[in-house]
Amino acid sequence: MAYKEIFWMACDSTEQLRAEYGPFHTRIEAEAEAKKMGFGFLLRYEHMIGDNDDIQEVRCIFIELPDVPQRASQPARKLHTRCASCGESAVHEEGWQAEVWADIHEFEHTRHRVRLFEQNRADGLKEIAGWRDACA
Ligand SMILES: [Zn+2]
Repeated sequence: MAYKEIFWMACDSTEQLRAEYGPFHTRIEAEAEAKKMGFGFLLRYEHMIGDNDDIQEVRCIFIELPDVPQRASQPARKLHTRCASCGESAVHEEGWQAEVWADIHEFEHTRHRVRLFEQNRADGLKEIAGWRDACA
């Protein structure tokens, strides 16, 4: 009697030249491994095995994982400082770097006021109001 054999692979894309890792017997194992490696997809293989143990049909289905860990090279959050008075701006990774930049700028240019924006993938650019007052 014909039967179906199923196994799972973790893969980094749906392209022809993708990296695949596996096989795993369960989706849970494949998903755990994909997360560890920062892979965004699972590939589910179905082999239809015939009476003579020969593979009659191969089916594969890509499944996109909902929450792929961020790669180290793409920080999720960036801080933008921009002077409201003269328009000079800079990008920072850390909050303290933005503060130092603003301190120097406001020291060198009397009465200039630096604004802070936070950029993340979900909301785009968003101003953080009153940030200078909070740390004064
Ligand atoms: Zn300025």
